Amino acid sequence: MNISDSERVSAVLESAKYKKTSNASQADLIVVVMCSIRQSAVDRIRGLAQKFEEIKKKKPALKTVLTGCVLKKDRKFFVEDFDYVVDIRDIKKIPAILKKKNSFKNDKNYLDITPKYSSKFSASVPIMTGCNNFCAYCVVPYARGREISRPAQDIVQEIKRLTNPTSSRLRGAREIWLLGQNVNSYKDKKTTFPKLLKMINDVPGNFWIRFTSSHPKDFNDKVIDAMAGCKKVTPYLNLPIQSGDDKILKSMNRRYTVAEYKNKIKKLRKKIPSICLSTDIIVGFPGETEKQFENTVKLFHDIEYDMAYINKYSPRAGTAAGKLKDDISIIEKKRREKVLNDILRQTALENNKKYIGKINTILIDGKDKGAWIGKNKHYKTVRLKLDQNLLGKFIKVKITKALPWSLVGKIIN
Ligand code: SAH
Ligand code: SF4
Repeated sequence: MNISDSERVSAVLESAKYKKTSNASQADLIVVVMCSIRQSAVDRIRGLAQKFEEIKKKKPALKTVLTGCVLKKDRKFFVEDFDYVVDIRDIKKIPAILKKKNSFKNDKNYLDITPKYSSKFSASVPIMTGCNNFCAYCVVPYARGREISRPAQDIVQEIKRLTNPTSSRLRGAREIWLLGQNVNSYKDKKTTFPKLLKMINDVPGNFWIRFTSSHPKDFNDKVIDAMAGCKKVTPYLNLPIQSGDDKILKSMNRRYTVAEYKNKIKKLRKKIPSICLSTDIIVGFPGETEKQFENTVKLFHDIEYDMAYINKYSPRAGTAAGKLKDDISIIEKKRREKVLNDILRQTALENNKKYIGKINTILIDGKDKGAWIGKNKHYKTVRLKLDQNLLGKFIKVKITKALPWSLVGKIIN
């Protein structure tokens, strides 16, 4: 979402005749799109602001703008650190704030801005923003406001433009990421998320549809059926459970039980047997006992995830959990994180072994440590040797080796 927001900021700035530079000390303007999910992210922005102050000593004309997810309570020090703090919904006003002309009408909703896409083959398309769920630990509903869904027609139009091979900008995007804090609660008049998936699947062209994030309480049979029935929707799902203990889930205000979650996974695996699964976890939520943590350990053994984003609980002022004592030490949080990571390494490796010898289509998306890398449909990273630059192309590879976090493959003609 931050990347997608930045692409919209870029479009606004370009309309005001700004050009991009990768060197901060050369910039006339620096716009930071921040995240407030964890305190460490907020602290990093304060560190950045100090660096900008150093640049300003040599270049007093430099202007700095902060946008993205900024909490009300943090605004008071950020207005001192930055020249301007702008709500993400007001980014089209940035040129006016800087007294620059631009082509944006102020009546534009920020999601209507056509982004300056940063990739030529993979595009992020927000379908909704905000959140109504108020999980006890989370600042998103405060930073982003309530849920707003984009009109389905706007989304489909954007994707038609993106995936059209003759469109000048992306020359036929190969991967579309649908974004939202809770894509499953998407609703535009009668269009729900499963219907939206079908509409996008019907857009002509050779491309993959991926989406994130899904809230388990809204992940239902209809979404499963749409995933199974839409050929372009890839067999990958991130379904954040946060904890494997019912009591902790209740304190987190997640509104599902472990049994309900597992039941949904069971149905999903029945319909899409090869589904690749990832999740989000918070370790060390206030009051999480060793026994309660062991329930998350058990869940990890049971589900055998392919990937997990394991977060150490970070108390956030203003949230319901922010009032509770952050009583799990950082050492213990780190230990719990490691325990889960160790299980994940094993389950991911076992899952990856199933790909050996198979022919996979992969989308080449870059280079890492000298090797080309791509993603298969299941969102597995595949490393391979290539004699030519096939960035952004679909190619067929034979999987030769499995590692916990990636596969190794060989191009076949
Ligand atoms: N909407 C998604 C998650 C969006 S936030 C959902 O409901 O699952 C992304 C992830 O950040 C969350 O899944 C959670 O694991 C993590 N997170 C959010 N608040 C956090 C906090 N206070 N401390 C640690 N991790 C947090
Ligand atoms: Fe945060 Fe996700 Fe919960 Fe919304 S549903 S409050 S974004 S964790």
